[in-house]
Amino acid sequence: MPSTFYVTTPIYYVNADPHIGHAYTTIVADVLTRFHVLAGEETYFLTGTDEHGDKIVAAAERAGQSPKDYADLVSGRFRALWPRLNIHYNHFIRTTDERHQETVRTILNRVKDNGDIYFSDYAGLYCFGCERFYTERELVDGKCPDHRTAPEMIREANYFFRMSKYQEWLIRHIQDHPDFIRPERYRNEVLAFLREPLEDLCISRPKSRLSWGITLPFDEDFVTYVWFDALINYLSGLEYPDGPLFKRFWPVCQHLVAKDILKPHGIYWPCMLKSAGIEPYQHLNVHGYWNLDEGKISKSVGNVIKPLDLVEVYGLDAFRYFLLREMVFGLDAEFSQDALVGRINADLANDLGNLVSRSLTMFEKFFKGELPEPPAAQEWDDELKDQALKLIDIYEGYMRELAFHKALMAVWDVIGRVNKYIDATAPWVLAKTSRQRLAAVMFHIRETLRIVSALIWPFMPASAEKMQEQLGLPRKGPEFTLALVRQWGKEKPVKPVTRAPALFPRVEDKREGQEGGKKAVDVQEKEVPLVSLEEFQRLDLRLGTILRAEAIPKSKKLLKLTVDIGEERTVVAGIAEHYAPETLAGRQVVIVANLQPAKLMGVESRGMVLAAGGEGGVHLIVPDTHVPSGSKVR
Ligand SMILES: [Zn+2]
Repeated sequence: MPSTFYVTTPIYYVNADPHIGHAYTTIVADVLTRFHVLAGEETYFLTGTDEHGDKIVAAAERAGQSPKDYADLVSGRFRALWPRLNIHYNHFIRTTDERHQETVRTILNRVKDNGDIYFSDYAGLYCFGCERFYTERELVDGKCPDHRTAPEMIREANYFFRMSKYQEWLIRHIQDHPDFIRPERYRNEVLAFLREPLEDLCISRPKSRLSWGITLPFDEDFVTYVWFDALINYLSGLEYPDGPLFKRFWPVCQHLVAKDILKPHGIYWPCMLKSAGIEPYQHLNVHGYWNLDEGKISKSVGNVIKPLDLVEVYGLDAFRYFLLREMVFGLDAEFSQDALVGRINADLANDLGNLVSRSLTMFEKFFKGELPEPPAAQEWDDELKDQALKLIDIYEGYMRELAFHKALMAVWDVIGRVNKYIDATAPWVLAKTSRQRLAAVMFHIRETLRIVSALIWPFMPASAEKMQEQLGLPRKGPEFTLALVRQWGKEKPVKPVTRAPALFPRVEDKREGQEGGKKAVDVQEKEVPLVSLEEFQRLDLRLGTILRAEAIPKSKKLLKLTVDIGEERTVVAGIAEHYAPETLAGRQVVIVANLQPAKLMGVESRGMVLAAGGEGGVHLIVPDTHVPSGSKVR
């Protein structure tokens, strides 16, 4: 039996339309599910809408509709959005579904039978926006921290869930299962909260005040508190208690939530499950917020374009890639159109897009798309093969830790390697000198692209499948598994490699000018774009010692340097007009060691020497004391 994977998004509250935060969580769930498909697992992906409570009643009143009609409308908008984002869920649950309501009643009865529900008179400070009581300690300047309004003192008789009884158990469970709540910052947040005494949870609302909810099975004058109702969707979506889905998928349940709903998921929910005699979920995965710099999002005729509208402008796969590459899962991230355009042009159009199109062009030109059986590989070929195969393990590790940005960076590292490999092996030269060698090189390029196409599929399904089609592969998208991806050279193309339009055309910033004119602005030209620390860290800067320097015949500017950077490198530098070759041996320089190799005046240069240039001439950048060759520059 294959191993299993179950992921849930929160069920989204239908008092407002979907926004970027909902889209991010749901795309992450889709990417994870597709990754687990690739890993050969049986997957189940649940999403849906949360439809009870005061806030829905208020929103429905504003819209002049009944709560149910209003919930139908907004729930429908969520359901209509997900296919547009290429999101494939298994089930869409609504808390107004009869099946869900039945499950809520079952759980309430089990918790009550267990002695964990009691009736009590309670006077407290209630925030109507949050639909909950606050303690003095939780308030900020006497106001609700979320709504910044003063709560009202109300006195009510209500049912309470004896959550305090499970405090010690929950602390122990979190301590014994380090990745129960992840990333760690949120685990620590929950543990910090649990250092104070846990109060019991009010789980009912009198119908005199609110009737839009699930009636308590043991008192028909009350409805269920909306959180107690909503959390149970994760069980009713699996047909708890008797359905086969529950048995198969509950033990591997992973929840995805944004940090604003950490407390109900990290505290209420495990205590509810424990009380009902159900094992807790496996992981609670918590992500941060997207900060929207609205000045940086397109303005069109005075209206701020919603981030989701950018899908129309820039394409779905670019949007999905951007969300997963830009946000470190768990931390907040900035959403800006500049960053989106930057990523499309650099990562997608330049790195991946160019690689695919130059490779396809060579396949067609040199072999009419049909590659002969590859002859023996050489050292550089094996290096690329090793890196491509290692990538699969590295990628799998990062995906299982939800380090999506790192998984993508690892894939892009290999994309960079293939680009370098092409420059270094120069297939266009081999085409004239050695067909055998050319066939080996092109085979290694195709195999590496095959691996890349499979690994980017969870993120960019349509583009990955297009790439697989162009490579003539017999399999596409979900037909791949990591086990098949690992089989180097076994997958025979079923049709010739074909040239095709660019996967990701370069884009211009599609913002309109300040005056509302149609002026497109290319951000790349206007300003030097900022790089992230990670991007900077991709540069391999090293201290080198020049062993030899020679003039290059017929070149006025270039010198050929042999430099020790922990290994010997040939580097061509444009410093001949400023330095005599005989003065250079023994001097130290800073080298960009992972620059793509390039041929200059017939000499292959593998690296670049850093120098500062201005009116006073060109000056090598040197350390202020002797440093061992090969030391990293940071
Ligand atoms: Zn509030």
